[in-house]
Amino acid sequence: MTSPTPPAAEGDAKASNFLRQIIEADLAKGTYASRRWAGSPGDATHQASGQPDPAKIRTRFPPEPNGYLHVGHAKSICLNFGLARDYGGICHLRFDDTNPEKEDTEYVNSIIDAVQWLGFSWDAGGVKHLYQASDYFDFMYRAAEALIERGHAYVDEQTAEEMRANRGDFTTPGKDSPFRARTPAENLARFREMRDGKLADGAAVLRAKIDMASPNINLRDPAIYRIRRATHHNTGDKWCIYPMYTYAHPIEDALEQITHSFCTLEFEDQRPFYDWLLERLSEAGLLASPPPRQYEFARLNLTYVITSKRKLAQLVNEGKVSGWDDPRMPTIVGLRRRGYTPGSIQLFAERIGVTKSDSWIDYSVLEGCLREDLENKAHRAMAVLDPVKLVMTNWAEVFGSDAHNEDCTLPALPHSAIAEGQTPPPDRVFKIGKEVWIEREDFEEVPPKGYKRLFPGNVVRLKGGYVIECTGCAKDANGQVTEVHAKVIAGTKSGTPGADSVKAKAAITWVAVADGVSAEVRLYDRLFSDPHPDAGGKDFLAALNPTSLTVVQAWVEPSLATAKPDDKFQFERHGYFVADRVDHAAGGKAVFNRVTGLKDSWGK
Ligand code: ATP
Ligand code: MG
Repeated sequence: MTSPTPPAAEGDAKASNFLRQIIEADLAKGTYASRRWAGSPGDATHQASGQPDPAKIRTRFPPEPNGYLHVGHAKSICLNFGLARDYGGICHLRFDDTNPEKEDTEYVNSIIDAVQWLGFSWDAGGVKHLYQASDYFDFMYRAAEALIERGHAYVDEQTAEEMRANRGDFTTPGKDSPFRARTPAENLARFREMRDGKLADGAAVLRAKIDMASPNINLRDPAIYRIRRATHHNTGDKWCIYPMYTYAHPIEDALEQITHSFCTLEFEDQRPFYDWLLERLSEAGLLASPPPRQYEFARLNLTYVITSKRKLAQLVNEGKVSGWDDPRMPTIVGLRRRGYTPGSIQLFAERIGVTKSDSWIDYSVLEGCLREDLENKAHRAMAVLDPVKLVMTNWAEVFGSDAHNEDCTLPALPHSAIAEGQTPPPDRVFKIGKEVWIEREDFEEVPPKGYKRLFPGNVVRLKGGYVIECTGCAKDANGQVTEVHAKVIAGTKSGTPGADSVKAKAAITWVAVADGVSAEVRLYDRLFSDPHPDAGGKDFLAALNPTSLTVVQAWVEPSLATAKPDDKFQFERHGYFVADRVDHAAGGKAVFNRVTGLKDSWGK
């Protein structure tokens, strides 16, 4: 059997956590050693006909295809696929598409892309463990009839208000429905009428018959089937009754022989019903034993980020961002377009670990993982984001002609980034001539205290080029500097014997006018200025950062002319940038997105 998922990001120590301990204890005890697997999901009889399950554990990632996945889902994906990989198991990708109203094949495709892009696979030895919950509707219906026959479910025809009133609350027990005492035969007949479209939407529900006085409100006869005339993207108009999520989910897990079903903490109160239901269906001989078990972990909350699908949709629909893949969005497509790598997200998931209590993770942790992933991979380049021209006024004196250009070189990766035995990538080659672009902030006519860059009389190196001495500047009528002037010092080129003959106070980045490439650079910043934009019911739109995107026209070195969409670079001193996957090179235009700065600026 081939390994279903490639190894995790490099350099991440696998810290133990409570989920790993649960799995290790189950493996030691052989809790699931007797399970059989018939090659596909199915009921007890089906699985009993199979071989001992070759997968030591089975986990699943069960998204509802009703939106784009975000960084919180990424945590769940890394967790479920990662644990299966680490313990000789298999992780299923299951579309939880039991709700007919909200689902769409556009989302199905985007979820498939996202999981694959993150580096995971549901293919184990050529078998694709990609399932959809709606394929289990027939079984779910059969299971509901079995519950009715065994006196564990009844058709309730109270109004929604009556049902709510009779449910009670935390301090008051519920009251039995007048329909609760119906016989199994009556219930079966009525349930079939529900299925056959004899009742109006909302006229009745099928409820599990458990305990209206239970201190856990989820056990006060939860609804398990409702009537809803809606066309389902997979089953069309075959059904006018649909299972409730809390009923469907445990059954999906059991049919797929999932051993460990991981979900977020808000499902903790549902666990008793999960267990109750699977016990009843095992007793009835419908589902294999031992049943799957549910375990809860804390969802990811990331500062400066919202992860509610509804609110993310609002940002898109109200045009606050350019789409689901806007590089400021916390969606997986957004992170990808921003320049995040699968390795950095896997590293992030590993680093934050799993806990049993909710907390906030600082956004800088995610950025830190990206810097770590790119540090030794992203080729270096020079880019001038706020350009002003620097003219070397003695150029013709030194080199014989104002038109003289010559090549400079710098390594694409620093020495420290090259592993032993690895061949370094070819050097970057770029020109130096009489005129170069420099950053406007690298010149001060009157230097502030401690300023080491260009000011009249100061000596600075053009990185990878010559040492120059600043002589002054030209200004327009408003006093704005239009040109910086300097003298090039002969014989000081980097990499030549005279390079150290004159001591420079600083080295600055630059791009020659002769071969600089014009580029649009999109400087992204946090989308919200509030670290908890939607906490406590706050209006998250009021927290939008008005300067989350600044677009500048920059000059970049010629090595970037051949960048392909998605290629990542470190622009020296500015941070990490990615060639935009949508707009770069479209119509011959170079477009780079800032992924993150070189240092953490979130705390400041
Ligand atoms: P909805 O509000 O539409 O139910 P959801 O975020 O729960 O959205 P699902 O598609 O149901 O989305 O989620 C799929 C899986 O991802 C679930 O197992 C869920 O627990 C997990 N998940 C969702 N959000 C987070 C999060 N912020 N952190 C960790 N896991 C998450
Ligand atoms: Mg959900």
